[in-house]
Amino acid sequence: MPEPTPVIAAQKCIALVAHDNKKADLLEWAAFNLAGLQKNILIATGTTGHMLQRELQLTVTCLRSGPLGGDMQIGARIADGAVDMLVFFWDPLEPQPHDPDVKALLRMAVVWNVPMACNRATADFLISSPLLHSGYERRLPDYSARRP
Ligand code: PGA
Repeated sequence: MPEPTPVIAAQKCIALVAHDNKKADLLEWAAFNLAGLQKNILIATGTTGHMLQRELQLTVTCLRSGPLGGDMQIGARIADGAVDMLVFFWDPLEPQPHDPDVKALLRMAVVWNVPMACNRATADFLISSPLLHSGYERRLPDYSARRP
């Protein structure tokens, strides 16, 4: 039997992560989309989340900093079905100490068919999608053969 299709509610849980060289980019994007973001539940890796709280007064649940496990915490929430959209501005030009965690987070989003923006243009498309303001049935691949 396939996994039940999670119905994404009109209010989404959006996870936000930006590597250091991408934080200014995320901040600018978040400032531009402030009203849209405020309507949703926001979670973020530690430094990214505190930056959004401090600079934009957004209500954000801050997890651990990425290199200390924050990416993995978001990945675990995706596996639990608790994240509806991921905005992850990762740095393509710098190796990260936690590259395995970064890869794991990207993988979890694909495994669970979570919409994910890894650059600003895609984030613009996602945040302006009419689906953001309505319910949406996120179809999942059939993982029943892998279930214990
Ligand atoms: P940070 O983590 O928000 O704590 O900087 C981001 C990351 O490196 O994954």
